[in-house]
Amino acid sequence: MKTVIGLEIHTQLSTETKAFCSCKNDVYAEVNTNICPVCTGQPGALPILNDQVVEYAIRAALSLECEIHEISSFDRKNYFYPDLPKGYQITQYFHPIATNGHVDLNNGKRIRIQRIHIEEDAGKMFHSSETITEARSSLVDLNRCGIPLIEIVTEPDMEKPEEAREFMEKLRDILRTIEVSTGNMEVGALRCDANVSIRDKERSSSRVEVKNINSFKFVQRALEYEIERITEVMKNGENVPQETRGWDSLTKSTVSMRSKEAENDYRYFPEPDLPILVISKERIDRIKKELPELPDEKAEKYEKTLGVTRDNAKILAKDKTLSKYFENAVASGLSAKDTSNWIVNEVLALFNSDSTEFNHERISIDNLKKIMDYTNSSKISRLVAKEVMAEVYKSGKDPDTIVRGKNLLQVSNENELISVVKEVIAENPDTVAKYKSGKTSVLGFFVGGVMKKTKGKADPKIVGKLIKQLLDDEN
Ligand code: ADP
Ligand code: MG
Ligand code: ZN
Repeated sequence: MKTVIGLEIHTQLSTETKAFCSCKNDVYAEVNTNICPVCTGQPGALPILNDQVVEYAIRAALSLECEIHEISSFDRKNYFYPDLPKGYQITQYFHPIATNGHVDLNNGKRIRIQRIHIEEDAGKMFHSSETITEARSSLVDLNRCGIPLIEIVTEPDMEKPEEAREFMEKLRDILRTIEVSTGNMEVGALRCDANVSIRDKERSSSRVEVKNINSFKFVQRALEYEIERITEVMKNGENVPQETRGWDSLTKSTVSMRSKEAENDYRYFPEPDLPILVISKERIDRIKKELPELPDEKAEKYEKTLGVTRDNAKILAKDKTLSKYFENAVASGLSAKDTSNWIVNEVLALFNSDSTEFNHERISIDNLKKIMDYTNSSKISRLVAKEVMAEVYKSGKDPDTIVRGKNLLQVSNENELISVVKEVIAENPDTVAKYKSGKTSVLGFFVGGVMKKTKGKADPKIVGKLIKQLLDDEN
């Protein structure tokens, strides 16, 4: 069995104004306020291409290693739906702006990009019931009409649902880094249709396309669901019809939307109201020079020049605010390797624990540095450091205040520790016997006991030494 997956991705470009008129590009505005004769398709209104759209599309295409075409053009994709007052969408069907790109996954596998084209978004419908077929009435907000999109079409180069998810995440990280899109799937600024088919030795299933996927997790889930479903149909010796299905995030399943036969015939033809799009070599070169460092390049730099592990480097380089935070911490004199571990294992864990996006103000570099210094100079234990950091995260207090206020300084004074060590030994005669019979691995148990009694404040190295001394002396 071989699974074949290809993605078609739409992303909204964060330009100031819409693609072909001067309306503001703002989907959050009061409904039907950012509209004009052009984006609502009034007779006689003419589109004018927003040059910022071209700029962003080139930036994206170059970041995805595509070839930019010096000449491309626009076409009309015709269909009727209430969210499309013009009756057609302006897109680039016959001659897209860019082709032949790629994104490399972290395991080195190359996912080729077939094409990238510019198009415009349609409006947004609101139905009085959950589904359009049950709805007695529907409303439409045309603010989204004419918002610029780029569509990115991959070759069917992915074989696993995880790969599709990784591709989408990497794509989002790139789009954010080059500042052309928020890449936010949850609000529809990044949308993906996943195509999947399965081949065994004798035959291949038809291609099924899953639409309406609105999170990275669901890209993977929808494909897993579909692979299982198609495999089952094939096992039963039945045919898999070529169809478009929708992902229902409530039932975590896909449902048939339409069959191949019911596909629209879009009657594409060249857009007569827009000139051919000409992009000079100079412009492409200029944009190429202005591109910021992309996540993978940054990760490689962290790995090669700063000695950060590959996994940490990839995580830190994904997001601009995070990589800036890391770089600033290193610039303030902290060791890169140590800092990378602290950020990835401790700082990010806190943000993940309550699903908030990273924000450098929650744990300032000053505070990170203080906590790392306390730990590195053995003034507090790693365990206590975690606690202090969680407190900084929660309350924004200064680590010094927390350490002093809660009396958290590590006890490394042997005289202070010896009584606790003796207590733990006295309380566990069975374990002492085990130790004496040669099972030295129980040392850790005693250290744990002391750490518990001192609420993590004891210096575990010294505790270990003391326990060993006391037990060995008794021999
Ligand atoms: P269409 O324009 O009819 O949607 P395309 O050939 O342009 O068809 O392909 C659309 C998407 O389907 C692409 O992302 C491509 O990678 C993917 N795709 C093509 N063939 C297959 C296949 N056999 N299995 C899975 N995905 C496929
Ligand atoms: Mg398609
Ligand atoms: Zn408009």
